[in-house]
Amino acid sequence: MAADQGKERKEIVMSVAAEATVIRRMLDEGHISQVDTEGHVREICGPCPDDGVSAPVYRLSRAGRRIIEVVLRCPSCGHDFAVAPEAMHLR
Ligand SMILES: [Zn+2]
Repeated sequence: MAADQGKERKEIVMSVAAEATVIRRMLDEGHISQVDTEGHVREICGPCPDDGVSAPVYRLSRAGRRIIEVVLRCPSCGHDFAVAPEAMHLR
């Protein structure tokens, strides 16, 4: 059905654009990981500014429940760095 195809396309576009929104909401709710619809744990990570290796959260600051700052540590070079939610992704 044509209506179903249109819906599918819209969901794909949204899933790409929505990742930063999802990450911001997770931080607001005090989480650095979540379980997706398939039961996989998705963790916030971000690219190391030195070598681009995907780094997990190492340290975080909270204001109440909200996470206001995260520091990531690169597993390759050991560099600690902060990234904006827009640069983070889920893995
Ligand atoms: Zn690195």
